[in-house]
Amino acid sequence: MGLAGRLSQVNPSLTLAITAKAKAMRAEGIDVCSFSAGEPDFETPIHIREAAKRALDEGKTKYGPAAGEPKLRKAIANKLKVDNNLDYQPENIIVTNGGKYSLFNLMMALIEAGDEVIIPAPYWLSYPEMVKLAEGKPVIVDTSAENDYKIAPQQLKDAITPQTKLFVLNSPCNPTGTVYTPEEIDALAEVIVTHDFWVVSDEIYEKILYEGKQHLSIGAVSPEIFARTIISNGFAKSYSMTGWRVGYAAAPVEIIEAMTTIQGHSTSNVCTFAQYGAIAALERSQDCVREMVQAFAERREFMYEAIKAIPKINCPKPYGAFYLFVDISKTGMNSLEFCNKLLDSQQVAVIPGIAFGAERCIRFSYATDMKTIEKGMQRLEKFIDSL
Ligand code: GLU
Repeated sequence: MGLAGRLSQVNPSLTLAITAKAKAMRAEGIDVCSFSAGEPDFETPIHIREAAKRALDEGKTKYGPAAGEPKLRKAIANKLKVDNNLDYQPENIIVTNGGKYSLFNLMMALIEAGDEVIIPAPYWLSYPEMVKLAEGKPVIVDTSAENDYKIAPQQLKDAITPQTKLFVLNSPCNPTGTVYTPEEIDALAEVIVTHDFWVVSDEIYEKILYEGKQHLSIGAVSPEIFARTIISNGFAKSYSMTGWRVGYAAAPVEIIEAMTTIQGHSTSNVCTFAQYGAIAALERSQDCVREMVQAFAERREFMYEAIKAIPKINCPKPYGAFYLFVDISKTGMNSLEFCNKLLDSQQVAVIPGIAFGAERCIRFSYATDMKTIEKGMQRLEKFIDSL
């Protein structure tokens, strides 16, 4: 009596595993500097917490509609219009258990055996695994630091086959921090429309941008691409709500209906009172987002300069998200070996690039406090010196 065959190709989430290990070491009293999960260190802003507490006191503790509270679906549709110039109605929105479940649910709704999903590497580690769980085939397209880790339109074209069903776009990107320009988004949209397949745009880092960079949602490029686009987003990163598990997808109604059917038989609705916190996040002042992004910007500058000054390692400057993707290949170690040794000898936790499809690199999250960053950078320097 074995496990289902579909699991044989699927790896556990290394971001979650390493983060849990770092937290457990800290609980044992070990002084760990963790740069592992992309989890903002800030408290969820007070007005969001208050709104959820109020919802609890008002009895918002029962089952709700599987696709989400009507008031939240409306607020999300409004946000997508105002922020992203996308014309969605509430029936185009599904509220999901984090941004992650919006993607998983989408794969279940859209992908079947034989379907191919094009994913540029480095990628967020869960994309290929979700495709495999849906019995589809991830088609990985490598990008390089020299090209800012961006897939070129020709590379996308070259990866297309009659089985191509979906392309995964993630800008700003986890793990590289790369941000596509509007012209680059336009060019990718043209390929997708010409060859007629779907694109899912993971926009979870859309608000975390530096040095005046702008986010363009691919669905806003033309009516033709809009009809082929699914937006995935959530509250975790912008509003420091990682543990709340509130995300969403926006798409043509037939996709949302299919995802609602799946949700109705899997998670049911997202925690009802958490959804009221999300409504407050969207409807109230966005100053909290600006303040957190300002803090990330300072940390990014410090950490980028610190890494630049250390021999044998380097990384391109990221313009979005809160990660530095550092090339460690000159140390002669592979990414897993490097991370294990760094954790064991210096108690610094980072994620090996192999998890993101890039063996030469490791990922640092700088969504952590300045003290940890300063200490962690000193330890990293010591580690490199000792090699
Ligand atoms: N998305 C975050 C990260 O890449 C959180 C962990 C996860 O869900 O993978 O670190």
